[in-house]
Amino acid sequence: MSWFRNLIQLSTIKRSPLKPTTSIVSPSLTQLLQFSTESESAATRQGGLGPTKGDEKPRVVVLGSGWAGCRLIKDIDTKMYDVVCVSPRNHMVFTPLLASTCVGTLEFRSVAEPIGRIQPAISREPGSYFFLANCTGVDFQNHAVHCQTVTDGVDIPDPWSFKLSYDKLVIASGAQASTFGIKGVKEHAIFLREVHHAQEIRRKLLLNLMLSDVPGVSDEEKLRLLHCVVVGGGPTGVEFSGELSDFITRDVHQRYAHVKDYIRVTLIEANEILSSFDDRLRQYATKQLTKSGVRLVRGIVKDVQPRKIILTDGTDVPYGLLVWSTGVGPSGFVNSLEVPKSPSGRIGVDEWLRIPSVQDVFSIGDCCGFLESTGKPVLPALAQVAERQGKYLAKQLSRIGEAGGGHANAAKGMEPGDPFVYKHLGSMATIGRYKALVDLRQSKEAKGLALAGFTSWFIWRSAYLTRVISWRNRFYVAINWATTFVFGRDISRI
Ligand SMILES: Cc1cc2nc3c(=O)[nH]c(=O)nc-3n(C[C@H](O)[C@H](O)[C@H](O)COP(=O)(O)OP(=O)(O)OC[C@H]3O[C@@H](n4cnc5c(N)ncnc54)[C@H](O)[C@@H]3O)c2cc1C
Repeated sequence: MSWFRNLIQLSTIKRSPLKPTTSIVSPSLTQLLQFSTESESAATRQGGLGPTKGDEKPRVVVLGSGWAGCRLIKDIDTKMYDVVCVSPRNHMVFTPLLASTCVGTLEFRSVAEPIGRIQPAISREPGSYFFLANCTGVDFQNHAVHCQTVTDGVDIPDPWSFKLSYDKLVIASGAQASTFGIKGVKEHAIFLREVHHAQEIRRKLLLNLMLSDVPGVSDEEKLRLLHCVVVGGGPTGVEFSGELSDFITRDVHQRYAHVKDYIRVTLIEANEILSSFDDRLRQYATKQLTKSGVRLVRGIVKDVQPRKIILTDGTDVPYGLLVWSTGVGPSGFVNSLEVPKSPSGRIGVDEWLRIPSVQDVFSIGDCCGFLESTGKPVLPALAQVAERQGKYLAKQLSRIGEAGGGHANAAKGMEPGDPFVYKHLGSMATIGRYKALVDLRQSKEAKGLALAGFTSWFIWRSAYLTRVISWRNRFYVAINWATTFVFGRDISRI
């Protein structure tokens, strides 16, 4: 956080009327302003970036470093705009491969792409920045966002608040895991959305394997410790269950032979697993998962306790590891924004991904949905939607900038151009044992290619390898896959 301390110090020095410091302030930092007035107390002072002047590049503030925000940041014309990204993580997660990191098929680093590598201008350009912070509120009237640093309690004890003025604001803050208000989920289950979740799952799994090997542990306790329960039979839950069963058949059987007969995987789903896939593919997945030892249970979770979950039919399911993957819903931040919402509670946008009730604000990715008035359905929470929205908006912003509408309020009354149109390219999911499902139909009713088996697995791997953002990570992923194939997964608990 030293950069942030420097930033704060410089911005404080600059505003002191007694100490003119222009000579020591770099050109980039001359833009840093104090928003507080002299009469404000020190406690309410805020640093930040003030409004841009007419002769400066307009500033695009992007909230979030996920699929949507990163695609926008990657494609945006940095000769036309300064970009400021605010996010509690300094990297993008390549989510389709996240499940593979939980059991050591891939290393965590292979699925994390640093922002500075996605858009080098953020590290180099004087007016472009990345701030490790959460946006806590938006002042739409004054074109400013309020943020608070993420400190993890390490460097500075209290989080620091600051304010950023924007010419254009892009809200791409994603969604959060749904718990449906079920008691105990947040406290005892692990979600699978971030790299730190995958790290927690791997540590817990390896810890339970080692604990169950300790002399004196009863058979009943061994069965509990080594019972991995996954709640949610969507693509993420199924892929994770498949990865776990591969890990058990190949690695646990070889390296934890004493306890291999105790380890089990149960996948609990209220309806059908993989409900968005073709019926034939779904049946194939069910058969394959069962063959690999995954127990499929139709049920609804009522309560989550530290060592067991309770289903609505009264069944107790003891667990050692509980992974929760039941879809996503609007985050607390999105709920707090006073803007019209889509039918599903996401930020409501028009066909050009603008929030129509306010000027210069756009929203992309899982946090937004079409307003009911557009007559369009809310798009699924998918990387392919988020990424294409980011790509579309980068083009829109270039068009607006070229027409002289880059600065705040300068695009009023401008022609909006072509609307955003989404065409679904299909879905893929791995199910373990070198098998996957590939469904290239645009919808469940449409005709098209739907494959399952080894060829699909090969297509799945090739497709994702080519989609990994950087050559560096593509190389890491290929090497990790090769290493796992030859030597097995890494089972060290670091
Ligand atoms: C394990 C897993 C596997 C998946 N597999 C696939 C797949 O195979 N295919 C597919 O199409 N989709 C897949 N998805 C879904 C896909 O990852 C999401 O749809 C996609 O990440 C949405 O992108 P986003 O940018 O809207 O949100 P996210 O990628 O979630 O990014 C949101 C960003 O906003 C930040 N943020 C949150 N709150 C704030 C705040 N207050 N201020 C500032 N920043 C904030 C977050 O830290 C994050 O950086 C998968 C998801 C998961 C979890």
